Amino acid sequence: MLYKTQKYFDYLEVFGHPDCPTCVLLSRWRSTYIDTFLYECVNDRSMRKRIRETGGFCRDHALAMMKKGDPLGHSVIYTTLIDEYIEAMNKKMKPGCLMCDLEVLHEEILLKSFIDSFINSEEFAEKFAETKSCICRPHLKQMKKLTRNKDIIAKLDAVQIENLKYAKGCLDEIIRKHDYRYNKEQLTKEEEIAWKRAVKLMSGILDE
Ligand SMILES: [Zn+2]
Ligand SMILES: [Zn+2]
Repeated sequence: MLYKTQKYFDYLEVFGHPDCPTCVLLSRWRSTYIDTFLYECVNDRSMRKRIRETGGFCRDHALAMMKKGDPLGHSVIYTTLIDEYIEAMNKKMKPGCLMCDLEVLHEEILLKSFIDSFINSEEFAEKFAETKSCICRPHLKQMKKLTRNKDIIAKLDAVQIENLKYAKGCLDEIIRKHDYRYNKEQLTKEEEIAWKRAVKLMSGILDE
């Protein structure tokens, strides 16, 4: 029963959410982690070093952190960054971002946990199928790399294809109901957000 970790239950809880379950959990992790992240960075030498060698954060994470607020934490980090930038305007910075590093590690834990649960629990696999959940394209690709078991991949694909067809059906309904012959028919709540769901499923973008 090793697979029944907290992540197993977290997944069960987010099945039925319109977006990729791994994306939803990763986005929640990011949001919670960022709350204490700047404070940790200010106090942790190796974290500060990584931030300085990359010249800050990637656009995505800089924006997510800025939106969270924390004037003091930002000021402590950015006063050093600006000083170093002024001293060496053309210095080549290392690629990446500390928050990306940490997020990739957490993402791996989430992906492994999904696969373990899917392999070991009928309840998990059934709930995934029943709730019409879909994994986004990038995360499904990563999951397949984590398991070499062809039967499991085939089973995962079968559920995914079934649920993708359902998601596509909602798009077809949006198109149909835009036709003047049917435009008196209201979109359902599910159909109203189906186009955004499609964008996220195909690209794997995280919704803040
Ligand atoms: Zn995803
Ligand atoms: Zn980043």
